[in-house]
Amino acid sequence: MKIRNARMEPGLKKQPRYIHDINQLPHLTASERIQLKKVSDKFAFRTNEYYLSLIDWNNPDDPIRRLIIPHPRELNDWGELDACNESSITVHKGVQHKYSSTVLLLVTESCGGFCRFCFRKRLFLSDIDEVSYDISKGVAYIKEHPEINNVLLTGGDPMVLNTASIKKILNALRKIDHVRIIRIGTKMPAFNPYRFINDPELMEVLSEHSHSDKRLYFMCHFDHPTELTDVCREGVRLLQQAGVICVNQNPILRGISDNPNVIADLWNELSYIGVPQYYVFQGRPTEGNEPFEVPIVKAYFKIEEAKKKCSGLAKRARYVMSHESGKIEIIGVDYNYIYLKYHRAKLAEDEQRLIVCYRDDQASWLDQLKPVDGYINEYFERDEEYGAA
Ligand code: SF4
Repeated sequence: MKIRNARMEPGLKKQPRYIHDINQLPHLTASERIQLKKVSDKFAFRTNEYYLSLIDWNNPDDPIRRLIIPHPRELNDWGELDACNESSITVHKGVQHKYSSTVLLLVTESCGGFCRFCFRKRLFLSDIDEVSYDISKGVAYIKEHPEINNVLLTGGDPMVLNTASIKKILNALRKIDHVRIIRIGTKMPAFNPYRFINDPELMEVLSEHSHSDKRLYFMCHFDHPTELTDVCREGVRLLQQAGVICVNQNPILRGISDNPNVIADLWNELSYIGVPQYYVFQGRPTEGNEPFEVPIVKAYFKIEEAKKKCSGLAKRARYVMSHESGKIEIIGVDYNYIYLKYHRAKLAEDEQRLIVCYRDDQASWLDQLKPVDGYINEYFERDEEYGAA
């Protein structure tokens, strides 16, 4: 793969300017701007000059364009705002506890850009208030629960916070002995790698909090090999130099990452720079995300095809559905059946449980899959009860 240079426009500074208004995109026609403004009035739009410079505007299907520029079909009546019922695992505002060893702290409702397919896009709506910039309640909760050995900072993207705030959060968490791993979910290495290149103080803070026996992990979010520019690679190198372990996770997305060559390129390139792919997610049925949905069976075979082009190191990822009941791995598909297994479960009795369902090539979520006799999928039954299946 040829490494891309960001197509910098003349005068682009090394602190890219953020853009929230569709009307500030000169590459769109006047009618496109009017049409897409309606979409961005519903689901917020945000990007920056650096990320925009990766778009090939001559290609209407450019993957980076699909990822960041609103699409009219986002307004289709489809999905739910909180598709995984995160409200049911929220123990305090901005604190989610689903798996016994892991807690999520939602520390911001902003990002380096707003991915059009974000499953937490509800956080960007003005009438939703689920994030807590003050983590004191979360810290107190974690202290009371010694079974919690890892904390995921998320949102939103914690890397939009200023360095002093990041330091304060990391200091507080590192004082809790039983928290061994701190994870930060971030797409900033893709959206704005200058965040790392231009802030040596941030790199020091990260280094101070990534100990040899208590590592700091960055759960990076790269969706397409085009994002792996020379600038991005430098940002990742600095993170690794600071002792941060970087891995990648992303959903499989129609028109962006549902092509075996794209998946293989991404995974192989990431393996070269020491950022192994961790999970590839089935897209959650989130409101506005219909344009990105890939059926499970199709996604499974695209991923299997990609694996043929990858080294063993590059293809370690698991293909999972992050369902409200747990992380369910899609382990196989044959002529008649889909084979699934809980990789992580909300309920102890579901841990490692196998589910075999009838093959349905249109289905894109567990709730649509009918279990074979002898296996349980209570979510399918629930949907049948309500006449939704
Ligand atoms: S960076 Fe993450 S949280 Fe932010 S919009 Fe993209 S997927 Fe959502």
